[in-house]
Amino acid sequence: MNPDAGSARALRQRLESLAGAGVTSLPTPGRSAAVGAPPPTTMAPPAVDDRSNGLAILRQMVVGCTRCTELAATRTQTVFGVGAPSARLCFLGEAPGADEDASGEPFVGRAGQLLTKIIEACTLTREQVYILNVLKCRPPDNRTPDPAEVTNCRPFLERQLEIIAPEFICCLGTTAAHALLQTAEPIGKLRRRWFTYGAAEVVCTYHPSYLLRNPAAKKDVREDMKMLMTRMGVRL
Ligand code: URA
Repeated sequence: MNPDAGSARALRQRLESLAGAGVTSLPTPGRSAAVGAPPPTTMAPPAVDDRSNGLAILRQMVVGCTRCTELAATRTQTVFGVGAPSARLCFLGEAPGADEDASGEPFVGRAGQLLTKIIEACTLTREQVYILNVLKCRPPDNRTPDPAEVTNCRPFLERQLEIIAPEFICCLGTTAAHALLQTAEPIGKLRRRWFTYGAAEVVCTYHPSYLLRNPAAKKDVREDMKMLMTRMGVRL
């Protein structure tokens, strides 16, 4: 059984009662909503418990989302994200595939196994980082997400990143890079550069699915991860 299931019912009830009371948005955990409060980039990150609670509440909102009619009708379940709520590093992918739709966890299929190897080559574990996608539902036949679907799901992505408040984000492939950085530059031109998203430093690299089709590009990803680990102070 899903370990979140016990608290999920209580959370859903709380959300329903909040909605009944007219509360349709939630404050950032651990952050003041007072007028005149400094912008998020200058504030302390939320406490770990606040992050876990914030993510659990957001997860329930994602579970109930039907904004993309086709995706809501065809998904087995939503795929929220996995890892440490206080991770320094987030890996951002495109959208769940068939394996992820079946399991409810991002990056568990062939591409996911390769991502796990990439993470481990960085001397990290899946449990130490946070893994999430631009879309929380599987597009039928694994088609590329529609721009409208990316727009619909964006508030969930933004909130998820706001709660986790990572120091670093690694965009895996074109869809992730374009959605996060709001650019149309090809992924090959986005590599080897630093960007920012709020307070987070952002790098872009090839998607593991691309590496499965083009193993020669693995050396490029190794370089990208080296650049990222050096900046993170992780010795390889
Ligand atoms: N590809 C992605 O972009 N995300 C997943 O979760 C799996 C495959």
